Order: sequence, then C-alpha cells, then structure tokens
Amino acid sequence: MKTKKMEIGFFSLTSCEGCLFALLDLKEKFFALNKKVRIKSFRLLEEGIHMSEEKFDIAFVEGSPLTEQNIEQLKKVRKQAKTLIAIGSCAHIGGIYHLKQYSDKEKIFNYVYSGNVGVENFDVLPVNKIVKVDYFLPGCPVNANEFLQFIHGLIIGKSPSIEQNPVCRECQIRGYECVLQKGEICLGPITQAGCDAVCLKSKQGCWGCRGLAEDAQIENLVKELRKKHTDHEIIKVLEVFGIKDLLN
Ligand code: SF4
Ligand code: SF4
Ligand code: SF4
Repeated sequence: MKTKKMEIGFFSLTSCEGCLFALLDLKEKFFALNKKVRIKSFRLLEEGIHMSEEKFDIAFVEGSPLTEQNIEQLKKVRKQAKTLIAIGSCAHIGGIYHLKQYSDKEKIFNYVYSGNVGVENFDVLPVNKIVKVDYFLPGCPVNANEFLQFIHGLIIGKSPSIEQNPVCRECQIRGYECVLQKGEICLGPITQAGCDAVCLKSKQGCWGCRGLAEDAQIENLVKELRKKHTDHEIIKVLEVFGIKDLLN
C-alpha cells in the first residue's frame, strides 16, 4: 500500500532569508526530499506569502516575529501544523535583531525612519515566546546538513535531537588553533556545537549564533575574558546574539 507523503511548509517571518538560501544551497539533496515529503510552501520557490487554510505535518519557521503581520502569520502556521520547527537563530533566540534591543530605541527609530509614524517597533522575541515550538534548529544560518539529518529522522518517526556539546569540542577535534588562548574573544566554550566550528576554521572567534550550550558557564567565561578585554569589548560580542540578556 502506498503511504501518504508527509506534507511540509517553510515560512519566513522578518529575516534575511539566509536560512532558506542555506537549504536551497543543498541543491539536488534538497529537491531529493520531494521523493519522501511533499513541499507545499516555500517562499523562494513561489510567489507571495503562503496564508492558505492548508494543513501541514511539519512547518519550518525562519525569522523573528517583528511585526503584527508576522505574529498573525506565526499563530496561523501554528494552527495549521502538527509539528512546528523554528529554524535559525532569528526564530530560535531572536537572532541578530537583538542588537537594536541594546540601543536607545527612539533614537535608532528616528535615525532609520526619519521620525515617520506608523512603523512598528516591537521588542525582539524568539518564536517560542508567541507560540509553542516543538523543535529548534539553531545557527545563523541554519546548518543545512543538520536540517537534512533532522528531517530524515522525522520521516522515519525518530525523535530528532541536537548535539549538546560546546563548540570547543568540534573546534579541537578539527585541530583548529584556539583564538581564545591567543587573547581573542571567543564564545565557543558556552555555545552549542553543531556548526563544525566553522568560524574557527577561518580563525574568527565564535559569537554564539547557535545559542547557549547546556550548563554554559557564562560568568566564568566573562571572568576569564576580563583579564584581557574591557567590559565594552566583551559586551559588544555578547550583544550580537542576545547572550548579554542571560548574564546575571
Ligand atoms: S538566522 Fe541568520 S541567516 Fe537565518 S534568517 Fe536570521 S539572520 Fe538570516
Ligand atoms: S578557539 Fe574558541 S571554540 Fe576553539 S577551542 Fe578555543 S575557545 Fe573553544
Ligand atoms: S562558530 Fe559560533 S558563531 Fe560561528 S557558526 Fe558556530 S556557533 Fe555560530
């Protein structure tokens, strides 16, 4: 008997669409998914925002809910989908938009919009502050190979999970030079692994785009960083993905 294919959709809130592009970068591996699932919605492959009454087995949501329209769309997608998966740092932890949270909101608003009224300027929230999220796939952008493993797990009915080690583990396994030991700021010790320590491959310190690792000792790392850096230098990095909010 022919089994019914899982029906899935991808939805973008306010985002750079980098996560969707990361998936499209998988090229034939992404489109091969069509043999196993039915992709019913993917903004970059069709026109307009999908707002139909259709049902989905899985909805993947990219981006931050920064406007009324985003919030309405997110709630609607939640109702339409059996499983909702937040993909990428914007959906997972609020993403790079967090930066605006640490500035004078009115000043920034006037600078960007020249005092125009009628533009929404909500606080940045991760998707799970608005609707229930079943799984998170972190990263800025999302790790496309991790996405593939994840969805293949769901297709065979396995409950997928994300590796819970700090980035340092992957960095050291790959034999990259430790930039923290060289005196640079690196959040690898407190950041969830799964990106193959890609920034360290280019000798760029980790800024924490995948969110906190389990049992992350933020204060200990900050204490260590203070030996070589000013609070201003440390905070500038902790602000990028909102880790500053988690400091006691
Ligand atoms: S997580 Fe990064 S790549 Fe993905 S939408 Fe947000 S800013 Fe873009
Ligand atoms: S460079 Fe960063 S991620 Fe790599 S081992 Fe050092 S602290 Fe950890
Ligand atoms: S090294 Fe850090 S900042 Fe770079 S991709 Fe990995 S988690 Fe993100």
